[in-house]
Amino acid sequence: MDKLKIFKEINRDIKKKLSPNVDLHLHTNWTDGKNTVFQMYKYACKKKLKKILFSEHARSTSSDWFGSFAEEVNSLSKKSCRAYVGAEVKILNFKGDLDINSKIRKKVDFVMASVHRFPGETNINKRETIDKYLKKEAIEIEYELSKKAIKNSNFEILGHPFGMSYSRYKAKPNWSLFQDLIKLCKKYNKAFEINSNYHPSINKIVNECLKEGTLMSLGSNAHSVKEVGKINTFFK
Ligand SMILES: [Zn+2]
Ligand SMILES: [Zn+2]
Repeated sequence: MDKLKIFKEINRDIKKKLSPNVDLHLHTNWTDGKNTVFQMYKYACKKKLKKILFSEHARSTSSDWFGSFAEEVNSLSKKSCRAYVGAEVKILNFKGDLDINSKIRKKVDFVMASVHRFPGETNINKRETIDKYLKKEAIEIEYELSKKAIKNSNFEILGHPFGMSYSRYKAKPNWSLFQDLIKLCKKYNKAFEINSNYHPSINKIVNECLKEGTLMSLGSNAHSVKEVGKINTFFK
């Protein structure tokens, strides 16, 4: 199976000015989302999405619930909308290692690697960990973690690149850093996620990916039914 086919189709649709009708970044009440897998799926069908990815938060220590979650997603009817099992895992360190185990890898269709914490942080909500870094440093750390993961780790989607800099640090990375990661994703065959919850200039990123021939993944980071398919409104 060509794992990257789903992203190739997104690029093809966008090139043809067609709406991709996908949302490849959903969370449910298996972790921090509000709704169930079934509720999210029903809403995706109502919104006429063709493909969705339940990119549930996972760690190398999660195994008990993950199997049941995967089973639930796999039990969905695939008629109107195809649902995939995913794991959104964090990039752990400057080697680019991911917080995932082999058991989870076997159960997922796609792995999404995201920067969620900086190395050494335990509680991301603590004010002092946020204050520890200047905006500039935060951007550099996020860039470096992403770069190493793209080069050294096995996954399909780079989740919300620079999302931490934007959301936690209110920092705006230089465009050249975006360009670097987009190029690197192309080189290492990863899909660069464009996320309506984090990215301010979606069109600009889309055009850069098209220019470089980098595969794109599209996601809303939806944590409730209301948010399902948000990313798709940019392509209508
Ligand atoms: Zn995330
Ligand atoms: Zn997420």
